[in-house]
Amino acid sequence: MISPRERDPRLQAFTGRTRRTESIPGVNQIHSETRRTKIVATVGPASWDPSVLEQMIIAGVDVFRLNFSHGDEATHVRVIKDVRLISERLDKEVGILGDLPGPKLRVGEYPQGVVDIIHGSTVTITPDDVPGTETLIPVDWPELAQALSVEDTVYLADGSIRLRVVANDGRTVECEVEVGGPLSSHKGMNLPGVEAGLDSVSEDDLRWVEFAVANQLDYIAVSFVRKAEDLDPVLNKLKELRSDIPIIAKIEKPQAADAVEEIVDRATGGIMVARGDLGIEVPLSKVPVLQKSLIGAAGRASKTVITATQMLASMVSAKRPTRAEVTDVATAIYDGTDAIMLSEETAVGEFPVEAVRVMDQIARGTETDLPYWDWVLNRVPQDDQDVSDSVTQSAVIAAYRLNLQAIVVPTASGRTAKVVAAHRPQVPVLAVTHSVRTQRQLKLIFGVRPVVNDQTTEIRNLLYECADDAVRFGAAASGDLIAIVAGLSDMKLGTNLFEVHRVP
Ligand code: PEP
Repeated sequence: MISPRERDPRLQAFTGRTRRTESIPGVNQIHSETRRTKIVATVGPASWDPSVLEQMIIAGVDVFRLNFSHGDEATHVRVIKDVRLISERLDKEVGILGDLPGPKLRVGEYPQGVVDIIHGSTVTITPDDVPGTETLIPVDWPELAQALSVEDTVYLADGSIRLRVVANDGRTVECEVEVGGPLSSHKGMNLPGVEAGLDSVSEDDLRWVEFAVANQLDYIAVSFVRKAEDLDPVLNKLKELRSDIPIIAKIEKPQAADAVEEIVDRATGGIMVARGDLGIEVPLSKVPVLQKSLIGAAGRASKTVITATQMLASMVSAKRPTRAEVTDVATAIYDGTDAIMLSEETAVGEFPVEAVRVMDQIARGTETDLPYWDWVLNRVPQDDQDVSDSVTQSAVIAAYRLNLQAIVVPTASGRTAKVVAAHRPQVPVLAVTHSVRTQRQLKLIFGVRPVVNDQTTEIRNLLYECADDAVRFGAAASGDLIAIVAGLSDMKLGTNLFEVHRVP
């Protein structure tokens, strides 16, 4: 088999030779335990039992997502407490991401549970606060009749139900059911091409930001972003609360996809390719192209990207995924995503733990074949003035040329580890930090293995300690060469140090 390095003539320019190996020698043997792609799993009724959370952590969850559109505060507090206790007991830290509801229209209460919206029937959408039925759909949106016109399309429940507006009496809207299906409380409503005139971030969202800060969450996801400025209310709130929780902008509107470069720039944590709503807001056939371009935009800016929704959808009720789903997960990894996300599969599905195991296996299977060499040369555009980028890229290239076993990064904030990871090294990036918070945040980053260890500030000792940590955490053995990459704060140059170090 021809290795990625042999396929890439530019690689030979770097190494001056070729090697007949499928992957970087030594790496897979020593680090067979280490998955690079990170797994995000949404918590819900199917998984909030502590024993299920525990099995999911053991199966490989890196970050749990709390979806604030569902569940009350008390439930989320309990899950956070359980996750922290379990991960401490297992000595396996995980991150927690809080996902804000955002300006999403939702149907009201269906006290009887699930009802069937019948194909071909006529239903009325009303702004009144009444119980929902098969023919009456309550939505808390007084401007409903002003925004919708005859012939507009209305989607419900993640697009599974399609309605066409046939009449509008100035207060309620009558629709024909073009595609029917089950509907229950709080399911989402999408109106592609219709401007709903809702605030980008509501008072409710800001209360959840306070909740996230009070409960020391590791990431906040902002839903239905349209432009970079839509992130400002959350950023301002965090500033007011003196918090630096990184924010992830969910890209699920066509306007956001158009403005992704500015959004990526402003989103302190990165972006999520939120394919669920995106696939309703744009034609489905555009989703694969958008996925590639959004992941590419995050990579160019050295920012984190999560690919989300319906990755293993059939596993909501089946123990094994379809071939197409396996290929979809692998495609996101080939596209360069940091993390792959489970939604309904782990929130309401029958096999939450199995779904995590399956993702783990797909990721491991795919990671032996990724275009690591192309990534180190091309994923992040080379900016001659950028010290951090130049130093980290050199370190990753040297890792291949010199057969280094690991890149060890002492880091306080996690920034240097993220910049190294943006070049997608095949060798593990061992991020050594004194901060559990940084450790949890780095759980989301491709290829980064974050560990906690108190470090000295004296530079030579620090470098020796990094080598000791590489051995202690199983990333390298005595006699191996490793890279150590760091930013020394007195220089104010960002990441400015790269040492090749022989492990004593
Ligand atoms: C999505 O739409 O893909 C998504 C992740 O958002 P949510 O699950 O909050 O609807």
